[in-house]
Order: sequence, then structure tokens, then C-alpha cells
Amino acid sequence: MSAPAPPAPAPATAPALALENVTSGYQGTTVLRDVTLRVPAGGAVALLGPNGAGKTTLLRTVSGLLRPTAGQVYFDGAKVTALPAHRRVRLGLCDIPEGRGIFPSLTVRENLVLQSPRGREKQTVDVAVEAFPRLGNLLKRTAGTLSGGEQQMLALVRAYATEPRLVLVDELSLGLAPLVVDRLFEILTAMVERGTALLLVEQYVTRALELASEAYLLARGSVVFSGPAADLSDADVFEHYLSIDVGRDTAGQADDSGTPRRAPDE
Ligand code: ATP
Repeated sequence: MSAPAPPAPAPATAPALALENVTSGYQGTTVLRDVTLRVPAGGAVALLGPNGAGKTTLLRTVSGLLRPTAGQVYFDGAKVTALPAHRRVRLGLCDIPEGRGIFPSLTVRENLVLQSPRGREKQTVDVAVEAFPRLGNLLKRTAGTLSGGEQQMLALVRAYATEPRLVLVDELSLGLAPLVVDRLFEILTAMVERGTALLLVEQYVTRALELASEAYLLARGSVVFSGPAADLSDADVFEHYLSIDVGRDTAGQADDSGTPRRAPDE
């Protein structure tokens, strides 16, 4: 009797997100140049770089607000380069843009329900309140009247409660107190533990690198470092890569020092 055939190798899991040689920007302005980036399924990736490097432009290209002029975008292995933003949301993409991404004139409950899958509205509200109990007392409040930290928390638990495949987070903690930032990062961590993939643009570089397993560093629209987040934690490496921008054309590309914005306590 012949030996049984060895089991077929398990199919490799497609990354949650893949950008292949993407060039993108605004009318007449190329910002991203030949960017290749991957976010593993269920993994957390930090996207760092000086002001004006193109981080937000990259997130907008992933969410479908900008169409690449070259290259491809894949979501869970499927090409989505030409797919409009709302169709990407239906595939499980959730975008938390800088400036909160909530509807300020709607109530907290309406904000939660609006993003909920149909038929799961109550569950979405319950999960959100469980993750951030303070929201329980704020459900009837108009979202625009919440504090900055509460609005960010609402944007985040809204995403958490709807269990997307991939979340894009742009400068979630900007201007918030360290204690609020701690709570936001707890929820981000819980999201990743539940299997949601995360692409994180974050001014708190140290915290972003603690959460992420991999990191990409953008400078002037190009990837100048990609690898384990731990490698980038080494300050020498970090400064080395960022120094690429110092002394070059910094107009609209970097702040005066060429360094990324950092939180005051870092
Ligand atoms: P920051 O940390 O300051 O938010 P960033 O790395 O997110 O920076 P982007 O916001 O992507 O950088 O900006 C990259 C470049 O694109 C900058 O030169 C910026 O001036 C330009 N840019 C951004 N938005 C637009 C727009 N709507 N139209 C034209 N150019 C834009």
C-alpha cells in the first residue's frame, strides 16, 4: 500500500491590505511614489513619517477617496483599486479620519446605529457601551457637544463594535490628554486581539510602535523603512531615516525640524 499523500499546504492567508507600487496624489500633485505596503490579516502596522510625508494621502488612497495613478490596492487579496469608497466599507474597511469621523449633528446612539450592520443595531450599541461605559449616559447627546476625547472614543468604539476587517486610524490621539490616549490604545489593542487588522498613523510614536508588529516610514511620499516595529524603536535608526528629510525641500513636506510630530511627553 502506498503512503498517503501529504496534506496539501494550507493556502497562505492574503494580507488584509496590500499596496503594490502605488503612485497617488491630488490633481496635478503626485504625493505617493511607488509605495508598496502590506498589513497582515489581523496585524497592526504603524505608518510613520514627518509632516507632509503623505501618510493621510496613503490612507485616503486605501479608503478609496483617492484613486492611484499607478499601482494596485488589494483588500483581503481582492483588487479594489477602482472600487468606490462605499463599496470598500461594505467589504469591511473602516476609516477613522483625522478629526474624528463622526456625525456631529447626530446623537451618539444615531452615530452608532448608522454604522451598524442592519439588524444588529442594538448589539452594536451594547458592545460600544460595554467597551466605553461612559457612552451609556451620553447616548442621547448630540455627538458634536461631546469633549474631544469622547468624540474620538465614539469614533473608535463605533469601529470596534462593528468588527471590520481593517481599520485605518489617522492621528486618533491628536491633542488629547495622556489618560484618554491610554484608553484609546486599550481599545485599539482589544481590536487587534479580536482579529481586526490595523493601519495606524499616530503622533505618539512610541505607543504606535508598542502596538504594531510592523512599521513603515514614509518620507517625501516614498517608503524609506519597512520592517519589524521593534527595529524602528531604536532611536538611532529612527533618527537616521528621518534625517533623510532634513535640509531638503521642507516646504509642505515636513515641519521645521523634519521630524514627525511627537506628543509633548515623548
Ligand atoms: P501630516 O502629518 O501633516 O498630516 P501627512 O504625512 O499626513 O502629514 P499628507 O496630509 O498626506 O501628509 O500631505 C502630503 C502632501 O500632500 C503635502 O505636501 C500636502 O500639502 C499635500 N496635500 C494634502 N492634501 C491635499 C489636497 N487636498 N490637495 C493638494 N495637496 C494636498
